[in-house]
Amino acid sequence: MTLSTPITNTYQRLAVSPIIIMSALTFTAAQAPLHASAQASIEASAQAEEQPEFCGQIPRVGWANYEKLDVSDDWFQVYQLHDDLYAISEPYQWQEVISYLIIGESRALLFDSGNGMGDIKRVVDALTPLSVTVLASHSHIDHVGGHYQFETVLAPETAFTNDRAKGRGNAFVAEEASTAALCRPLPNGVTEDNHRTRAFTPTARVEEGSKIDLGGTVLTVMMIPGHTPDSLMLLDTAKGRLFTGDSYYKGPIWLYASETDLPAYARSIGRMADLAPTLTSIHGAHNEPYSDPAELLKVRNAFTAIMAGTRKPDEVLGTQAIYQFGTFDLLMQKDHDHK
Ligand SMILES: [Zn+2]
Ligand SMILES: [Zn+2]
Repeated sequence: MTLSTPITNTYQRLAVSPIIIMSALTFTAAQAPLHASAQASIEASAQAEEQPEFCGQIPRVGWANYEKLDVSDDWFQVYQLHDDLYAISEPYQWQEVISYLIIGESRALLFDSGNGMGDIKRVVDALTPLSVTVLASHSHIDHVGGHYQFETVLAPETAFTNDRAKGRGNAFVAEEASTAALCRPLPNGVTEDNHRTRAFTPTARVEEGSKIDLGGTVLTVMMIPGHTPDSLMLLDTAKGRLFTGDSYYKGPIWLYASETDLPAYARSIGRMADLAPTLTSIHGAHNEPYSDPAELLKVRNAFTAIMAGTRKPDEVLGTQAIYQFGTFDLLMQKDHDHK
């Protein structure tokens, strides 16, 4: 894998690790030895150019449809999607992760808590006086980073969840805080050397069919393993809203990690697609806060074709196979089983 390989995703979390990009840049700079001052100026200009590609796409076009609120925070950006729904994004970090604050009449739910770099509790408290429960769409580090700040934490009872609830040390997450992963300085004294994912304690469990009653708004938990063993989505039946986590969003959907289970994802995307006719909106966990429910049908059909072996990758980068479908990509292991 080299830098000269273009990263072609229009919507992206990067398909390759920022660490790999950094090493490639270092190598380029080292090719032509220079004396100190020239080297310094080259490095300064390289740093400007070094900004990851996604920085130039912020804010993504989908955000223009919504009102951006002034929350006096230079890490999070908050958009009001509806009277009772806020999207809390972290656009300056390569994951471009989005957490959602859903407001009921008596309490609120924070669906995902971000990378744990900024102070998401402060942002949430500025948006609602209600008591806030947190629940993650799954336990990847970019969705549970702020869990430690909340007293009431819902989670499914899976081995993966319980393991990730122990937190992750700096070695596991440092690249998330590296220069190549960022468009602006980190908040709160977080650095590449001290960033970590803090442990959290589930205070109650959810499972398939669990109802979360916020007063006037009832959310149904649906387990959709595949991306991870503990992936879940939240359905607001009355309003036709589906919160899909990383199982669907507008961008390259990662079905690549060792914890990913492709046959399970096949069943889950089938369930998601079956809901599409009843939905008015989909809210995924990266890049942009709204997608057309019909996209779920396209993802199901695309995934089905890949697993049947009738759709070949558009690009293979190292061990990653990328299948591109315009509004989304599927990113899988090159040697994934077709079954
Ligand atoms: Zn994930
Ligand atoms: Zn994610």
